[in-house]
Amino acid sequence: MHETDMTKALILTVRQWWEEQPSRPQIDTIHLTVGQFTCVEPASLQFAFAAQTQKGFLEGVKLAIHETPLVAFCHACQEEYKPKIGLHYSCPSCQSPMEDIRSGRELKIDRIEYTQSCVEI
Ligand SMILES: [Zn+2]
Repeated sequence: MHETDMTKALILTVRQWWEEQPSRPQIDTIHLTVGQFTCVEPASLQFAFAAQTQKGFLEGVKLAIHETPLVAFCHACQEEYKPKIGLHYSCPSCQSPMEDIRSGRELKIDRIEYTQSCVEI
């Protein structure tokens, strides 16, 4: 996953939302949920976001990244577990290969914090 392309998609999504708002709110913080299994580096994402939002409608907007852990479900054990890369993501109890991911692949905008601007022109 390339953080630069991701950031472009993120900005595009937020822009579409923003332009649909009748009053063009002043965005304060964008909350993102990023799963550990997406291979997105939060630090790289922050960097790309800061670089791409200079001199735009998102200038100075904060990016809050909430990471969700990778959780898988083993059908043999009927249990959830947290896969380890060293174990090739297999179940720690029975070594079944990971087949059911319950969490960790999310990559979405959680919510957008904003204040309504009252500027009249
Ligand atoms: Zn198992």
